[in-house]
Amino acid sequence: MLIVRTYSALQKAMAMQQPYHVQTAFVPTMGALHDGHLQLVHAARQQAQLVVVSIFVNPTQFNDAADFVQYPVSIEQDIQLLEAVGTDIVYLPSVAEMYPLGTANLEHYPLGQLENVLEGKFRPGHFQGVCQVVSRLLQQVQPGLLVMGQKDYQQCMVVQAMIDYLQLPVHMLRVPTKREPDGLAMSSRNRRLSPAERVAAVAMYLALLQMATNARHLPIAELEAKAASQLLAAGFHKLDYISLVHADTLLPVSQPATEPMLAIAAAFLGAVRLIDNLPVAQP
Ligand code: AMP
Repeated sequence: MLIVRTYSALQKAMAMQQPYHVQTAFVPTMGALHDGHLQLVHAARQQAQLVVVSIFVNPTQFNDAADFVQYPVSIEQDIQLLEAVGTDIVYLPSVAEMYPLGTANLEHYPLGQLENVLEGKFRPGHFQGVCQVVSRLLQQVQPGLLVMGQKDYQQCMVVQAMIDYLQLPVHMLRVPTKREPDGLAMSSRNRRLSPAERVAAVAMYLALLQMATNARHLPIAELEAKAASQLLAAGFHKLDYISLVHADTLLPVSQPATEPMLAIAAAFLGAVRLIDNLPVAQP
């Protein structure tokens, strides 16, 4: 496994490997890796001969400065995990490498209503930052396949919109969410939960599960209200949203429908903001 820290070193590493590889799969991450990330690398490994993983905590996607400062970092352990699952190249760029002209006055991506709902509404500027870093990484790595997690469902939609806008020749593979045995979605931010908060955190999965299970036959407003009280009873506060939405538009669903739906939530447990989603089974 090659570890590179600059774009020019990445180019050299890829040139060394490329004569023998036809398909490159790329997995962008912010590190503090867990089995959910490794699931993405496994999927990449199955699809492509060359697997590139980046670790970069991208400053432009943090709308909350404290969240950026406290974001967990475990680079040595990450490297060992990536080696064990057969990664070919790990790219660890610096902020200067990704933003040589600085982070002010960056291009604005037209994301339409995706930027105004759910995460877009509660984390202003977040998705512009995601587009900034993913577009730059895609231009540097030039993969045929981009592997991302459905845990960040709206992020997948945003990145697809950015790919379409820039007409990049890359296909996106979305990997289902990997969960802990009790159902909690794996997340780097789970490391910041206290033991008591970790026990309480499963309430988000359980609330989403009851919404998704009943979405086709019970009144939506009733389901959403019940889910919100489940979260509050478990100790969550500042519920940004816990809703049933159309899976293709992320707009609210007001009555049981037959189209694709998603139960989706974001809320704080102590100082940690957790997000998760579950698709509603097709009728
Ligand atoms: P992050 O390091 O949080 O930016 O995540 C990097 C990639 O891993 C993103 O595409 C995430 O959607 C994906 N990911 C994070 N958590 C999970 C999970 N529990 N299951 C599957 N993919 C995940």
